[in-house]
Amino acid sequence: MTKNKKRKIGITELVLRDGHQSLIATRMRTADMLPVCGELNAAGFWSLEAWGGATFDACVRFLREDPWRRLQSLRRALPGAKIQMLLRGRNLLGYRPYAADVINAFVARAAENGVDVFRVFDAMNDFENMSGAIAAIKKAGKHAQGAVCYTTSPVHSVKDFTSLARKFANAGCDSIAIKDMSGIMTPESCAELTAALKRETGLPLHIHSHATSGLAPLCMLRAAESGADILDTAISSFAGGASHPATETIIAMLAERGDFDIGELNNPARLAKIAAHFREARKKYRRFESEFAVGDPNVIAHHVPGGMISNLSNQLRDQRALHRIGEVLEEIPRVRADLGYPPLVTPTSQIVAAQAVLNTLTGGRYNTVANEVKNYFTGHYGKIPGKVNAEVRRKAVGDAPFSPPPADKAEMERLRAEIGNLAQNDDDVLTYAMFPEIGKTFLQERAAGQLTPEPLETEAEKTGGESARWAPSEFSVTVHGETYNICITGVGQPAKTRRPLYLTIDGVPEEALVDTLREFPGAKSEAPAEEETENKTAGARRPRPQKPGDITTAMPGTVAAVPVKVGDKVQAGDAVMIVEAMKMETEIQSPVAGTVVAILAGKGDAVTPDEVLVMIGD
Ligand code: MN
Repeated sequence: MTKNKKRKIGITELVLRDGHQSLIATRMRTADMLPVCGELNAAGFWSLEAWGGATFDACVRFLREDPWRRLQSLRRALPGAKIQMLLRGRNLLGYRPYAADVINAFVARAAENGVDVFRVFDAMNDFENMSGAIAAIKKAGKHAQGAVCYTTSPVHSVKDFTSLARKFANAGCDSIAIKDMSGIMTPESCAELTAALKRETGLPLHIHSHATSGLAPLCMLRAAESGADILDTAISSFAGGASHPATETIIAMLAERGDFDIGELNNPARLAKIAAHFREARKKYRRFESEFAVGDPNVIAHHVPGGMISNLSNQLRDQRALHRIGEVLEEIPRVRADLGYPPLVTPTSQIVAAQAVLNTLTGGRYNTVANEVKNYFTGHYGKIPGKVNAEVRRKAVGDAPFSPPPADKAEMERLRAEIGNLAQNDDDVLTYAMFPEIGKTFLQERAAGQLTPEPLETEAEKTGGESARWAPSEFSVTVHGETYNICITGVGQPAKTRRPLYLTIDGVPEEALVDTLREFPGAKSEAPAEEETENKTAGARRPRPQKPGDITTAMPGTVAAVPVKVGDKVQAGDAVMIVEAMKMETEIQSPVAGTVVAILAGKGDAVTPDEVLVMIGD
């Protein structure tokens, strides 16, 4: 290369995946993507990240869209662009390691349906967790990109990252990515790592960071100067904060330089059109906007990735514990140290965050241990980067050995048999494989023609009138120096000037009788009977625990399964309910032996601590 020859730099546009994953909890619908695909297709991006990560989960769980159909639609709408996806190594797009035949089938179907570039990462940076997927991508004839998850800890160094990149190169990867999923990279460390990875592999190098700490645009500049080939950005209306540097900003910066060739990218009018489309589209998702998705330099301490902060705050809000997010964020680095410093990215970010939530909300560190933390200690997620806290490990799994699951097990046939006729093809089988519970429900509802997306407006906005008058439904009150978080969960039938109000105070359900000066319109003249005050909000009517057999949940969440029925005999330690929170399932175990005398919550019910869910008697 002569000295004055311009070096090519490409841009990957992230708005269709990480942009909305980081800012509106992955809720953007396909219908809001398609109208602007013509502009995206023509803009000259190196690739468009449009699938994978949390998009598959959000499609099935919330939007009730078929994620495979989304991919097919985008493929048709983007005929001239490379579609890129994010793949979690052997965890694919789910939260557990899959057998080799599922990995092969998934990659083959994603390639067939339209993915050109596969970015593969593993939360533990364990190459063994990625080698199968990389081989499958090469077999499908597609671009395999090995991603190094960037993190800092007493056990991570540039040498660890270059040795992982060397393994990617040896496995035939077409490019390498630095994946700074939390936006904690600083310009100088970015320059150093960029140069080291280029020196080690000579492969095209792709930089992915988040704008959370504010340093990402500076990292992009230093990376470009240090030899990086492709930069990840998001169009301005989905940029900044927990998302990424803005596409227009980075293009303006590169265009001004005499040493970079950015092809057709410098087209401000076209970029403005794309930005305007998404600015308008974003408005309808305001319910999913997170106040924690704005910039926060503290990310350098807690390392929580952008997508995860947005999900964590939404989850805590649903659990009426949003006011404790500060404590949870402080607990996260402590849990991470106990677990031997895994990088924080799906699924380790969920594992660490869920345990940090348990440690914070249940008043005692590791008194309740999430199932996934137990699995982590016994090798389910792969090699642990550092030393784990031996005392915590003993508390979680006793002396259980470290034994990662074998890689050669086949499971496609079993999955096909389990889902049966509900699956029309292997795409459906793979949807079920990723999410056995919600995937199956999705396929059942699709078969029945009953797929309904979650509403875009809140209950109060939807019904207006009566419930709108009770807004805001969640607020804090400070009385005599004590602050209480109050959440109104429902209102009962009024009787003249009095009506019951159901609320939680710091998560504990309470009933209050509200007296007003004038009669409620339509109020009954006599006191309402008990069943008329019945309110539909789960939890408000359940009794508070009084004795050891009154079993409650450690963490607010949704009942995923009830493995016992009334009359069953249980031993101390038996699971009596499975509660899902933070996308993780936690077993509630009976602390006593006895007989199940009552079950007060069923699958799908919202539950909170301090209410009895299962009663055990003698
Ligand atoms: Mn990201």
